[in-house]
Amino acid sequence: MSSNTAGESATVARLRPFASTIFAEMTELAVRHDAVNLGQGFPDSDGPPAMLEVARQAIAEGRNQYPPGRGVPELREAVARDRAARYGTEYDPDSQVLVTVGATEAISAAVLGLVEPGEEVVLIEPYYDSYAAAIALAGAVRRTARLVPDGDGFALDVDSLRNAITPRTRMIIVNSPHNPTATVLPRADLVAIAELACSHDLLVLTDEVYEHLVFDGHEHVSLSTLPGMYERTVVVSSAAKTFSVTGWKTGWVCAPTRLLDGVLAAKQFLTFVAGGPFQPAVAYALNNELGWVEQLRKTLQHKKDQLSVALAEGGFDVRRSDGSYFVCADITPLGETDAAAFCRALPERIGVAAVPVSVFTDHPEEWNRLVRFTFCKREETLARGVERLHRLR
Ligand SMILES: *Cc1c(COP(=O)(O)O)cnc(C)c1O
Repeated sequence: MSSNTAGESATVARLRPFASTIFAEMTELAVRHDAVNLGQGFPDSDGPPAMLEVARQAIAEGRNQYPPGRGVPELREAVARDRAARYGTEYDPDSQVLVTVGATEAISAAVLGLVEPGEEVVLIEPYYDSYAAAIALAGAVRRTARLVPDGDGFALDVDSLRNAITPRTRMIIVNSPHNPTATVLPRADLVAIAELACSHDLLVLTDEVYEHLVFDGHEHVSLSTLPGMYERTVVVSSAAKTFSVTGWKTGWVCAPTRLLDGVLAAKQFLTFVAGGPFQPAVAYALNNELGWVEQLRKTLQHKKDQLSVALAEGGFDVRRSDGSYFVCADITPLGETDAAAFCRALPERIGVAAVPVSVFTDHPEEWNRLVRFTFCKREETLARGVERLHRLR
């Protein structure tokens, strides 16, 4: 008989594996050793000034009560217009677009609202940590396909995806540009995913939060644009990475009505609505600030190159970064064999914090040589990190 007031943690069993995150531990180590934090992927500079001003105005003008449940009309219209202009996909702002508390809530609400307990969701390893927790919240079952090394980057192991699909599979979650590996899935891999989704009649959730942040001429292709996919795809994106406002927690879902209705059913009882004054500001940014985003992309391209070179000079085997905030590097040439232990020691050793890719997988032993670094930091922060990486030599 267990007590309700003493003993082990009272956290429900299905969430216990997610109770603590590596990010908290690494951030604490970074603070303790005054390290440059290249672990957690958030920018340390602001988004477009005019967008920030619209948010201040919205507060000053009294837009401080519950916005409509689906989000303010101007943001839903801006999202629909943006998807149509950049991808050619049409969503009705009144019934096929939903504003959420960041991409994180969009993902959880989509799994809760569209996947029955006991049904299976396929993730591609390594995967963003919130996916597994969302599946656990829904009482669904996680299965995994995987990325495999391909030249200096990664590619989808299509056989592993085929093998992960069973009669109980309901949904595949795809993220490109990819956190943590910085892979931009090429069209051929997306076509393979689409063919499997169509032939097994599966839903697909595509997490496109890094849709603008692609490098070296790579192109982001939305799965929703491939043949047979629009009807079965839930598109998730967010202002966080596009406009450097990770604290605003303003994201959105675009999906056909029958899918969006499921997401909405869950969302309205998670949070009801998302932050009111931020919504007109993000609408403004989608309509007016894509030039700023292109400038951000160029700056990040330069920082990606700078960090990649520094990691190579530090002795790592650097993986290609095609997009996102990240570059991954293999520790083998440094004579190291355990990326988690390496990352725990790094803040004290050279004053830099980073994250082992193994924390994004169900098979840490297969991913124990790879470390994720972020370059989404101010020039002077990054320069300090780069200088310290040379201490590894
Ligand atoms: C940052 C991130 C998110 C979360 O976005 P929010 O809008 O801040 O909730 C979701 N997916 C991936 C892959 C991310 O890197």
